[in-house]
Amino acid sequence: MNKNITLFNDIQILPRGVYLQIGFILKTLDPTIIRSNEPEEVLTYKYQELGNRFIIPWRKFKGKLRRLVMEQQRNFGISTQCALKDNLCMKCPACFLFGGTGETSKAGVSYNLLSRVLGETLISTTEVKDIFTYTANAVDEKDYTTGQALITTVAVPAEIEFLGIITLKDPTKDLAAILIDNLNRVKRIGASTREWGRCEVNILGYILSDREDVAVYELIEKTIKEKNKESEIRTLFKNIESLRLPLKDIKNCYKNINSQIEKILKEIKNEHT
Ligand SMILES: [Zn+2]
Repeated sequence: MNKNITLFNDIQILPRGVYLQIGFILKTLDPTIIRSNEPEEVLTYKYQELGNRFIIPWRKFKGKLRRLVMEQQRNFGISTQCALKDNLCMKCPACFLFGGTGETSKAGVSYNLLSRVLGETLISTTEVKDIFTYTANAVDEKDYTTGQALITTVAVPAEIEFLGIITLKDPTKDLAAILIDNLNRVKRIGASTREWGRCEVNILGYILSDREDVAVYELIEKTIKEKNKESEIRTLFKNIESLRLPLKDIKNCYKNINSQIEKILKEIKNEHT
């Protein structure tokens, strides 16, 4: 790890090769429905070396995170009309972080924004033992008897822990603060989150490097091979506090990013005219 790498002061369009990796544990507090294409199924994956594990695909987690960032920035009065997935404005902090393509959005812009947030599959820290199933019955309003089963819900049980790593390319303090604040705002995940899917996120720390140094798979494999306790994964990450992020004033982070984007877009426009 290169010790001289620090966070940037501003954002730029072209990549500069710095990666901030944030490790976290997501623990289900409630049965959680992580659906694949089949509705009555829980997402598990049989790895050759890790065994059978619950997984949360990155696209599901990213979607959740992006929605949280977007609702937060709307609350701060920034790009209040920017919305997934056909109404992306292509010029707000959320679009800059999570990306979008000019052609598919109603913004009608001629550039693409690549996601600055890179992710990977979240993998459960323990092998699959039980799967939660719940069968709901309809109660007859006249005689209070239950008829045939209405629906069976299949879910990841409560108290399952997932390891996740989220990577921010070319991080600035403002971007990192927005990401971490919203990582801590993930309180529900999966489908049917009105009644299911409560979870808590516990940030392990960060690694700042000129490459992606660690992967979820790798760290879980390490705990098996070296019989490491999960707590030892923590020691690979540095304490988030040492980044001195402006977490107390997230609104200002959005404002800073927003004005930096305006400047960049003006430059792009000038180049094309
Ligand atoms: Zn936007």
